[in-house]
Amino acid sequence: NKFKEGLTKTRDSFIGKVEDLMLRHKKIDEEFYEELEEILIAADVGVHTVLELIDELRDEVKTKKLTDAVELKPILSEKIVDLLKDDKQSNKLNIESGRLNVILFVGVNGVGKTTTIGKLANKLKNEGNKVMLAAGDTFRAGAIEQLEVWGERVGVDVVKHQAGSDPAAVIYDAIQSAKSKDVDVLICDTAGRLHNKVNLMQELNKIFRVIQREVPNAPHEVLLVLDATTGQNALQQAKLFKETANISGIVLTKLDGTAKGGIVIAIRHELDVPVKFVGLGEKIDDLQEFDPNQFVNAIFA
Ligand code: GDP
Repeated sequence: NKFKEGLTKTRDSFIGKVEDLMLRHKKIDEEFYEELEEILIAADVGVHTVLELIDELRDEVKTKKLTDAVELKPILSEKIVDLLKDDKQSNKLNIESGRLNVILFVGVNGVGKTTTIGKLANKLKNEGNKVMLAAGDTFRAGAIEQLEVWGERVGVDVVKHQAGSDPAAVIYDAIQSAKSKDVDVLICDTAGRLHNKVNLMQELNKIFRVIQREVPNAPHEVLLVLDATTGQNALQQAKLFKETANISGIVLTKLDGTAKGGIVIAIRHELDVPVKFVGLGEKIDDLQEFDPNQFVNAIFA
């Protein structure tokens, strides 16, 4: 139900308009497809994905000999669930008991990275894990303090150095501390300096090397945080980060405040990286595991 509440704006702009078109237009003709295309693109579903969806709808209309536009609603919802599902890639976090799990967070400033780390730390702690945070964003003013506030709120240790220090050194120390304290999950923050791809790559590579050297098969997750309210911009960021860091999953924040929820579909389809969590508000328990059925039910209800 959090999904339903959080996705009100997307539902209104997306399926609200689709329904309106179906009722108004009734007939399935070229004009109908064109308007449907416009609505889906405006909802940030992404041009490639929209064209593919429409092609699939055309096929269904032909084979099932449909004439009434309203009949297309369940078919559209089914197609979107299919797009969001992937049997190969799980939406679940790759966390196992009996080992130190390392989760690396990447993403540009302001997308909700720190907040998401706090929410995830809380969730994992409530599930019985011993959690630790590493303040690897030594670049942004206030990032370390902000992470400490979350650490206190959740009740987990935060390993930090001074602002401006080497993030790889912070993460190295955090790993040693996590090992000595039998931590289950170490969540590492990093700075998101996307404006300089070479810098970002060098910085991330150094962090990767430290983690890989200190913990076998780590990082177990590299989560990219994206702000849903930025729509197609989020998709562009995701493409750049995918080239730079080996991201294993996406957290899409601020879905609550936006009508651009269709971006979930574009990201899943055009990037081939699973959306693992969505942020549906600013509060500590406003982080939800992403479930394609729940998502589609929420916007089609
Ligand atoms: P960072 O710079 O990426 O670490 O971003 P922050 O974690 O500081 O978040 C930036 C702002 O976005 C803060 O005001 C957060 O409260 C807000 N925020 C983060 N996630 C969500 C979300 O899922 N929904 C809403 N509405 N706000 C969010």
